Amino acid sequence: MAWIWMVAVPGAVLLWAVSLGRILSSPAPYCLPASARFLPPLRGDRRSRHVLLVLAHPDDESMFFTPTILFLKSKGHNVHILCVSLGNADGLGNIRKEELFKACATLNIPAEQVKVLDHQKLQDGFHEKWDHGLLVELTMEQIQLWDIDTIVTFDSCGVSGHPNHRDVYHGVSKLLHENQQGNIEAWELVSLNIFRKYSGPVDIWLSSLTSSSSKQPTYCVVNCSPSRTFEAMAAHRSQWVWFRRLFVRLSSYTYINMLRKI
Ligand SMILES: [Zn+2]
Repeated sequence: MAWIWMVAVPGAVLLWAVSLGRILSSPAPYCLPASARFLPPLRGDRRSRHVLLVLAHPDDESMFFTPTILFLKSKGHNVHILCVSLGNADGLGNIRKEELFKACATLNIPAEQVKVLDHQKLQDGFHEKWDHGLLVELTMEQIQLWDIDTIVTFDSCGVSGHPNHRDVYHGVSKLLHENQQGNIEAWELVSLNIFRKYSGPVDIWLSSLTSSSSKQPTYCVVNCSPSRTFEAMAAHRSQWVWFRRLFVRLSSYTYINMLRKI
């Protein structure tokens, strides 16, 4: 049986290296399939989009959405972040808020384009149930303030299944449903199964294939500078413990985001 491991381990290392090579070979973030229809510049005077990432906790942006942020910035779009909670489950809320601003600085998102809420009914925790109507109300305030035209958020599985992530998705869904003008485009980060989630750069092959064949508009956004993810996550010093360092190395969300239109 030992021969199986002698083949499998070098094979896996080779596949990892080839996949990473494909990701690093581009000088700029890109999407697959390459398409001018994916988040094109707006018509009229304002060509760049005002994109709002609606997230649940400080560090969601760095741990899961870095490929998306770097792609949007590379296209000249204006990225804003609404973080719905302080991430105060362990009593570190104010520290985590400051860490979020530091992480955003590494991603070139200005502090005035980052809003962190601390609402009594929207506190961090696995057992907290967030009010979707309240999420609509508070998200709409930021949409109007920042003149947002595009939203990016979690999908209904919330990447990790965290109920706060899932509630954020349901809040955005409700907002889209209630927005009669239909002037907001929204995309969700596709949650991957456990094998794909921990396949690092290797998932680029499956993500690009499934994006091309999906019935719903879906694109795979590739981060050609994964070191930026490490830099952003390291700014969350209170969270930068050994298992998150390992997660960021193994996670396909460091290298790739699959975005599906809601
Ligand atoms: Zn989170």
